[in-house]
Amino acid sequence: MTNETIFDKIIDRTIPADILYEDDYVLAFKDINPQAPIHFLVIPKIQIVTANDINDQNAELVGKLYVAAAKIAKQMGFADDGYRCVMNCNNDGGQTVYHIHLHVLAGKPLGWPPYQETLKTH
Ligand code: AMP
Repeated sequence: MTNETIFDKIIDRTIPADILYEDDYVLAFKDINPQAPIHFLVIPKIQIVTANDINDQNAELVGKLYVAAAKIAKQMGFADDGYRCVMNCNNDGGQTVYHIHLHVLAGKPLGWPPYQETLKTH
């Protein structure tokens, strides 16, 4: 699956986003439906559909998502307080946009585990 997603439109500026950071490889912008006081997404500028598509060839690019997250955390001043990076994968992971993205959540103690339900198995 290599269909265009809404994130391609953000990359090419067809639709607006509140962009926090950009370099040749990645783009970071605020999540439109924030789940924490600070919640933004870091995406690669080329589409990798899901975490299952991360491989030896694109591993360096995926690493750049974390590099950008750490840079932004320092710039925005929440690096020392802490934050959470999450990448959801496919249906059970809660993925809704099929272009990998690192959720970066911060701004309060986030708690763990992140789910409320009683554990169940398939
Ligand atoms: P996921 O469910 O892990 O695939 O995350 C997709 C995220 O993209 C959700 O947190 C959405 O709120 C966010 N999102 C969807 N459309 C936009 C948009 N146009 N601008 C910013 N964030 C968006």
